[in-house]
Amino acid sequence: MNIILFGAPGVGKGTQAKILSHVYHIPHISTGDILREAIKAETPLGIIAKGLMDHGNLVPDDLMIILVNDLLSSDRCKNGFILDGFPRTVAQAKALDTIFSQLNIHKFKVINIDVDPKMIIERLTDRFLCAQCGKIYNFTLDKFKAGDKCFKCGGMIFQRDDDKPETVKKRLDIYYRTTEPVKKYYQQTRALLDVNGVGEIDEITQRLLSTLGR
Ligand code: AMP
Repeated sequence: MNIILFGAPGVGKGTQAKILSHVYHIPHISTGDILREAIKAETPLGIIAKGLMDHGNLVPDDLMIILVNDLLSSDRCKNGFILDGFPRTVAQAKALDTIFSQLNIHKFKVINIDVDPKMIIERLTDRFLCAQCGKIYNFTLDKFKAGDKCFKCGGMIFQRDDDKPETVKKRLDIYYRTTEPVKKYYQQTRALLDVNGVGEIDEITQRLLSTLGR
């Protein structure tokens, strides 16, 4: 199964991709996570990405296309994958078509997770993470107080720099200007499947599974 999970930042792509990755036994390829790892490891890509990501800007297409080409060509992805966070521009979507044809990948599904923009802003600015195990928390719903530790592993809870309110606004502006046209690209070239992203996590997973035909 080859899946592209598409949608604005904060619609729950990462959470759902992790679940689908377990269900279908295929790797979850999150370009955002890979870039954050590169930043931590201070690799040349990480050094370029840091300044851009902290301010909500996109990493240049050519760097992202090389990264995704390498990942999809690796043995890890030979039985399928879930792409989360790529493509984010029409140029990336076109390059992905070329990568797919070079790798003889002819079947894939593009799923758009749909959430109202107002709700996205609330979700992102309320999103916190455990620095140790990566568990995602909602500051208001999970009733956090400053200084609380992760319920699962005791790690430190922090907010991504790019989830701070001013950066969230910029990321959404970029999404609607640069990434939303990718939706049209897939609508024109093949069936884009829409899934309502509002509701409990399990509910949304069920919608995704039935859309994917399981
Ligand atoms: P995410 O975790 O998917 O929200 O990604 C976090 C940030 O990583 C984005 O705001 C971009 O700065 C960068 N990024 C992730 N994927 C891409 C991509 N496909 N193209 C350009 N920048 C990306």
